Amino acid sequence: MSGPYEMAEDRRQIVLPGEKLCVLEEFLSGKGTSTSADGTVFATVVGKAKFDRKKREVQVEAIKEPDSISIGDIVLGEVKELQSRSAVIKIIGKNGKLLKHQRSAILLAKPGIKDYLGQHVSVGDVIIAKVTSIVSGLINVSIWEQGLGVIQAMCDGCGSTMVYTKKDKYNVYCPKCGKLDTRKILTNYGNVKMLSEWLGLTA
Ligand SMILES: [Zn+2]
Repeated sequence: MSGPYEMAEDRRQIVLPGEKLCVLEEFLSGKGTSTSADGTVFATVVGKAKFDRKKREVQVEAIKEPDSISIGDIVLGEVKELQSRSAVIKIIGKNGKLLKHQRSAILLAKPGIKDYLGQHVSVGDVIIAKVTSIVSGLINVSIWEQGLGVIQAMCDGCGSTMVYTKKDKYNVYCPKCGKLDTRKILTNYGNVKMLSEWLGLTA
């Protein structure tokens, strides 16, 4: 195993931040690297080290973390816990693809409106949300824009999948127990094709 300060002779392809790559006399510091006061060139990102002998420069090409979540990502999630003004969401996919490692996120109630989040989502619902902020690894998502919201609601009475309806103030209906409820639904609520595409069930 190479330690973080392994000598230049043992040049691994994949390097970690802080890993010594060479000394300035050998190669200059390029993208993804930095130089310490004693002239040691080290990696600043996880990635592939590339030693360009012509330019006499070393670069580290950053490896993208496949499951990383970024601000602006559109994510598919399931509502796991619900409180009056916040909910815990398990993110299962992003930008139309399933994640290998599921992540937790927080959905906050619509700002400026004093109602219960439970009027818009319920535990077991599948939602399409947007990542609005990531602070110290804590992911916040929102469903308040158009095109976001519940794509499949779960009846909190019997656990069945609810269907779209338009009755008084209600917009979802449980065909099994007859319960009417409200959700912040997507315009194409219950779109099975869209949901199965997210879940990778179609080619
Ligand atoms: Zn029901």
